[in-house]
Amino acid sequence: MATEQSRSREVALDAAAADSRALRAALGETGAWRARAESLARTLVEATLDSRAPLFDVQRAFAIFPPESPAGESLFRLAEALPRIPDRPSRTAMLADRVPALRGWKAVAALPFAGLAMDAIGRQFVYAETIAGALRRAGRDASAGPATRFSFDMLGEGARTDADADRNFRRYMGAIRAMGQAVGARGAIWRERLEISVKLSSIHPRYDAASYAQVRGELLDRLKQISGRAAAAGIGLTIDAEESERLSLQVDLFEALSADPALDSWGGLGLAVQAYQPRALETVDALLEIAGRRRKRGGMPIAVRLVKGAYWDAEVKRAQELGLERYPVFPDKRLTDLSYLACARRLTGLDSVRPQFATHNPVTLACVLALADRLGGASAAPARFECQRLHGMGRGLYRTLAAMHPDLPVGTYAPVGEKRELFAYLVRRLLENSASASYVRQAARAKRPDDLLRTGFAFLDAGLSPRDLPSPTELHMPQRRIAKGYDLGDSATLAAWAKSVDEARRAWTAGSLVSGVRRPGPARPAVSPARPDVTIGEVSDATLDTARSAIDAAYAARTAWSAVSVPERAAALERLSDLLEADMAGLMALCVWEAGKTLVDAMADVREAVDFCRYYAQQAREGLGRPMELPGPAGERNVLTLHGRGVFACISPWNFPVAIFTGQVAAALVAGNTVVAKPAEQAALTAYRIAELILKAGVPPGVFHLLCGNGGIGRALVADPRVAGIAFTGSTDTARAIQRTLADREGPIVPLIAETGGLNAMIVDSSALPEQVVDAVVASAFRSAGQRCSSLRVLYLQHEIAPAVLDMLRGAMAALRIGDPADPATDVGPVIDGQARGKLAEYISDLRSRAELIAESGPVPPAGTYIAPVAFEIGSIREVPGERFGPILHVARFALEDLDRVVDDISATGYGLTMGVHTRVDSRAERIRARSAVGNLYVNRSMIGAVVGEQPFGGEGLSGTGPKAGGPNYLVRFTTERVFTVNTAAAGGDIGLLTGRMADAGT
Ligand SMILES: Cc1cc2nc3c(=O)[nH]c(=O)nc-3n(C[C@H](O)[C@H](O)[C@H](O)COP(=O)(O)OP(=O)(O)OC[C@H]3O[C@@H](n4cnc5c(N)ncnc54)[C@H](O)[C@@H]3O)c2cc1C
Repeated sequence: MATEQSRSREVALDAAAADSRALRAALGETGAWRARAESLARTLVEATLDSRAPLFDVQRAFAIFPPESPAGESLFRLAEALPRIPDRPSRTAMLADRVPALRGWKAVAALPFAGLAMDAIGRQFVYAETIAGALRRAGRDASAGPATRFSFDMLGEGARTDADADRNFRRYMGAIRAMGQAVGARGAIWRERLEISVKLSSIHPRYDAASYAQVRGELLDRLKQISGRAAAAGIGLTIDAEESERLSLQVDLFEALSADPALDSWGGLGLAVQAYQPRALETVDALLEIAGRRRKRGGMPIAVRLVKGAYWDAEVKRAQELGLERYPVFPDKRLTDLSYLACARRLTGLDSVRPQFATHNPVTLACVLALADRLGGASAAPARFECQRLHGMGRGLYRTLAAMHPDLPVGTYAPVGEKRELFAYLVRRLLENSASASYVRQAARAKRPDDLLRTGFAFLDAGLSPRDLPSPTELHMPQRRIAKGYDLGDSATLAAWAKSVDEARRAWTAGSLVSGVRRPGPARPAVSPARPDVTIGEVSDATLDTARSAIDAAYAARTAWSAVSVPERAAALERLSDLLEADMAGLMALCVWEAGKTLVDAMADVREAVDFCRYYAQQAREGLGRPMELPGPAGERNVLTLHGRGVFACISPWNFPVAIFTGQVAAALVAGNTVVAKPAEQAALTAYRIAELILKAGVPPGVFHLLCGNGGIGRALVADPRVAGIAFTGSTDTARAIQRTLADREGPIVPLIAETGGLNAMIVDSSALPEQVVDAVVASAFRSAGQRCSSLRVLYLQHEIAPAVLDMLRGAMAALRIGDPADPATDVGPVIDGQARGKLAEYISDLRSRAELIAESGPVPPAGTYIAPVAFEIGSIREVPGERFGPILHVARFALEDLDRVVDDISATGYGLTMGVHTRVDSRAERIRARSAVGNLYVNRSMIGAVVGEQPFGGEGLSGTGPKAGGPNYLVRFTTERVFTVNTAAAGGDIGLLTGRMADAGT
């Protein structure tokens, strides 16, 4: 493992070195401008250390309230949430939470002052609340600086619904109209000084790779309307850069826009490029081509705003969650800086592009200026490019720059909107500035300019040293590699996987495997839930004789397998994990066609199986392989060891056909048991494929057996007294039936490890952010068509925010696409079969008669066992008769004073699997945690997608017996404990005691 880790570190270092070499080559010779850059940088750095900044200047605020200090964290968390909380009790609670000195009446008394302070922070970042106010303010600021320009950013979250997108579109159009009127009325002042920044995610709810083919036309149409109006108004427009998976879509739309001859005479068209992406240089090259074509046919230059990028931490987190091979952003700040300059070099001195260098880093700015001087000649440079800052940041730096270069155009990115819309923007600013490598953060801590200059120029000087940031799949090294994943948010990757999965489809067959030999049995066709008219394979079910012979063989092999060393058993699991990883497309195809899983869910299922194998292998090596020496009196040795119990029956469901099947079997095997596995009838094809891989991984044929078949085969397994333990995942009713059979059985009393259902609730108070809530609700309730045991069933909303959240939920549900799971654009696939659909449809019609319909998605395809996601309003969870395994959401409202009763009602159902809480009041989350009894509680996120080793999964009460799958206590339940005691005194006394070693050891 350690060598594997160092190998992958070397690979990462090699990649970083290659990036660095390519960027250095693109940057070219630096000697000619370096000295000038250094002297300029010194002046500019000193300007940033000027202590006369206003109190809420970001850099100053960070110096006084470092973001990692409790005061800093409190300040920024209050600024994020307080302005949007509607009710006083929640505002007071949040204030008291963040400022412990303000308890009770003191918090109430302090609330108005806190409000004023938050306003001050908001004002620091928000230029004006309305476009009219922004124009008034800009008018004043423009007269102070003749080269000042403004890019207005209409604040707000990305659109979740068509209604959001329509509203944002109208806001852009309205703002441009107002800006056009300003230009018309006072052209002499405003000409070429006004611009609007547009986020594509705000004008369409489905600006993503999966939907792109369908929505490209709509997006382009909107963009053309906005651009046409901006061109007519005589203002500029820049398309902001967003998350990395949207880069290719952004460039594609920009290319289409710039190809429109109607816009050729408009010099205001532009877009932002993020230098922190390894794809930055190639993006710049693509833009130069686009710009060159436009110029060639007589069009105006395009503007390229070069930024470093604002989503670094989110990109890193996402890459780690997805297990990507490499990060979509540079992992080293010096590479970001180098990339910025290499891109600047490419963009400078051309007549087809007008670069806009957006940065608050004085070293970056100095390098850009020195480089441009060198390339364009000192006098030509200022006219050809522009420098840009964000409102509220870089004030001292840009003041000094203006004094040095009065003619250099300087743009201010000026957010316009109400304070309650500030969230996303503020969080981005806070996170980017909190990063220890960011200039603002370093300047807030720096004592001397020399330190800042040395760090600032490190990107040109320093060699690459090992990075602190492990590559995404190395996150848990040296213990284990995490499963490799791929970014299905990226259009090219998604298209490639859709193709591979399609190509992996074949006429599958499955049957029982006893001692590695396929056994005949009654055959049945397997059909896809998405297309019940299409037969996808054939399954031969086990007979009772086959079941008996599987148990015979497993029983015969149990002692020998238990004697195989733990490292050998763990190695088999690791080989299996590699085989599963290598067969990703084949297994995904099975998940899609047999279980109706979407591509994203299918990939997650395979990855989880890979993680289970590696995690249990690691756990076994650490926990099972080493005898535990126990203390005892002098002259005695006590050793505890763990052993396989014998034959384990693993009975798995269809909803995670790869992960749960593999997880159970892997745990049982590595703990030293032989296994007879019985997957759900609906998932036999997938299980058979995994069974082949288990044998291929080197698990002896006598040790693992597969039985295809229905509940009758399961019952026969459970009833056999030679079966020494059962791992079961499925319904609570079946778990009970298993328990009864076990109780009635002759022979040893054996463990049952059961993971069953849940009646899972999410509690949302008024401090939560509605957009985050709706994202989490839609994912939790409807992903996998609601067929996860962790799925959300009952959403509790605090009265004050219920109407707004429900409005947004209606819009988000209307945007869901239900259909063929093999189609990359599908959000919700079918439910597993006709029987399941029939029961769900019956329940929905019952709800229609007694509850109020909130929303229903649709349409659903005519063939296939589809149920459209649906939400009903009810009074409380007490009205829900039990788990309904499908995309049905119940919503109830609650008053804050009834919070404890809500939690008690949830507990009273007897289930205890997952729960979600959305609140910014930490003490409230804690109160709910302390009062509830659930296996997995998630705060401010979705409540599905537990990760092996990070969120061990499983419930209590009616939801399961524990221990948790993917957790540190799981394997032990598959073992039996033995203690070995030796009276060493009987064989000549205790040497330790006689030589004084024991006494020494105690001191
Ligand atoms: C006018 C203007 C418009 C903007 N528009 C956009 C936009 O459309 N889209 C967008 O994404 N951003 C935009 N930004 C924000 C911008 O991307 C930067 O986040 C911000 O300007 C800070 O960069 P800097 O050069 O000022 O500071 P610096 O402190 O020199 O650099 C900070 C940058 O380094 C990156 N970084 C931090 N740590 C590391 C690390 N360990 N490895 C690699 N990189 C690291 C950060 O993510 C950040 O990008 C805009 C900024 C301005 C001024």
